[in-house]
Amino acid sequence: MTYIDRLSKQRFNNWTEGVKTVAISGHIRPDGDCVGSCLGLCTYLLDQDPALCVDVYLDPIPEEFRFLKHADRIRQENEENRIYDLCIILDCSDPDRMNRAQSVFAQAGRTLCIDHHITNEGFGDLSIVCPESSSTCELLYYLIKEHNIFGDGSISIDCAVALYLGIVHDTGVFRHTNTTMETMMAAGELIRCGINTEKIINDTFFRKTYIQNQLLGKALTESMLVLDGRMIFSVLYRKDFSLLKATQQDTDGIIDQLRVTEGIHAALFLYESGEGEFKVSLRSDEYVDVSVIAGEFGGGGHIRAAGCTMNGTVHDIVNNIASRVEMQLEKKEDCPGDSHEETERDELS
Ligand code: AMP
Ligand code: MN
Ligand code: MN
Repeated sequence: MTYIDRLSKQRFNNWTEGVKTVAISGHIRPDGDCVGSCLGLCTYLLDQDPALCVDVYLDPIPEEFRFLKHADRIRQENEENRIYDLCIILDCSDPDRMNRAQSVFAQAGRTLCIDHHITNEGFGDLSIVCPESSSTCELLYYLIKEHNIFGDGSISIDCAVALYLGIVHDTGVFRHTNTTMETMMAAGELIRCGINTEKIINDTFFRKTYIQNQLLGKALTESMLVLDGRMIFSVLYRKDFSLLKATQQDTDGIIDQLRVTEGIHAALFLYESGEGEFKVSLRSDEYVDVSVIAGEFGGGGHIRAAGCTMNGTVHDIVNNIASRVEMQLEKKEDCPGDSHEETERDELS
């Protein structure tokens, strides 16, 4: 049974019935799927009912996503102390990661969480968590289209652009194995709406600024192999960012380049996010479940893409993670064939 069939067994009340004010939010450091799902849903709700008040709470979003419809509605603070009838949290694996909307969420009349992270234990009045879905945008597409959860299912071109963008980003342009038949069918239907796929893919996914390329170059040049070439890691420090005039948002894509290194089973990328504090990104192939490793250090994510924040020296952080990767690899060598490959697919961001 596909997750879409499973969803149809759930009863979705009419979630916007009687609702006049809606707050939408996602996770900190918003990525393509987070921005695409938040703005895609905002667009859809306003298309359905232009009289609705919809506010989107997110950290400032990367420049390349600002062309999306209603990006100008994104706000960081609830200055009017508005209490919303409904608050919807998208692509956010746990309540701690929605820092912009925590009080909005706590005070809302009802709350809904829609997500695809395997480590999401569910929160809010209703949680729809589907780890089989490539992206929150794919899940949202099916909820809108097949389950009419927020209206009559008619998707405008602006909504289609946002949802397609999120799918493109979380699947690495349909390359990762979280790309399924359902993903391609959803993408196909969104293309039918008349979107410019080339523009979305090239302008928001592949295009890099000069600074981003320099940062990527530095991370690659200084990367190191460990565990006899089975794991790669790289670190960027605050001084690297100031030297290149780069920001944390410029690190996007670095981990994806590390992960394609031949022979490795796990890739680790760290950047210094505060005094002695590092943002950790992990990627793996079918032998290693990085969601478990990130979870041990207070983070989470998907089987093959996960993250956390860690304190301490780079030496200790790399050793701690490498030892866990090694333990998993040894277990796999002891029980060959016992891999996620056949039974589970990797999920991203
Ligand atoms: P990143 O490496 O930051 O691109 O994150 C990879 C995946 O792990 C994404 O799905 C993130 O949402 C998730 N993730 C990253 N950091 C954390 C964290 N601290 N807690 C929970 N999930 C995280
Ligand atoms: Mn996602
Ligand atoms: Mn995300």
